[in-house]
Amino acid sequence: MKGETVRLVLLGPPGAGKGTQAARLARRYGIPHVATGDIFRENVREETDLGRTAAEYMDRGDLVPDEIVIEMVTARLAEDDAAEGFLLDGFPRTVGQAEALESTLAERGTPLDGVLSFAVTDEEIHRRLAGRRDEEGRSDDTDEAIEQRLNEYRDKTQPLERFYEERGLLREIDAVGDVDEVFGRATGVVGDLAGSRT
Ligand code: ADP
Repeated sequence: MKGETVRLVLLGPPGAGKGTQAARLARRYGIPHVATGDIFRENVREETDLGRTAAEYMDRGDLVPDEIVIEMVTARLAEDDAAEGFLLDGFPRTVGQAEALESTLAERGTPLDGVLSFAVTDEEIHRRLAGRRDEEGRSDDTDEAIEQRLNEYRDKTQPLERFYEERGLLREIDAVGDVDEVFGRATGVVGDLAGSRT
């Protein structure tokens, strides 16, 4: 599979361990890891205009407005390295974003290969996010912001499972287990996707 183009979206609630798996998958397949949360945090650190706007939403646990995120991701996917494939982590997060992505990729003639949906129980999510709050001290890991991020996920992002299921792209991955175990499941699924491509 290495050297081949592969275009993936990773879906899953905050705390599903998506970021960790995304970084490893991107390395395995030699494709850029496009993580919108990371790009926003970098802009916040560098005090750019985008960062200042995004921080207002992020610190409350709200989603950044679609038009801002869509413009940012569209520009990122137009860069040279993304011609060889990409792994989107944290985007799309709304049906509006998913529709925008779909039309951008259709124009380029480079549709998605699959959407990996990381599944964890609510109990596990709370446990992991509380652990991360203590370790990383992220400004959006307060109890209120965590609760709000979970609400946003349920209301706006979860409907994407249906969106991608209808397109035959959705693959669920059991995200409970250690990092290597989950990675093994994920690469198994990506291998099947590549194998089923004609
Ligand atoms: P998590 O670790 O909770 O999955 P991320 O690091 O992906 O979170 O994103 C952190 C925050 O950045 C989100 O709560 C949201 O405010 C903003 N953000 C990231 N991606 C998007 C997106 N696609 N649409 C809107 N907001 C986003």
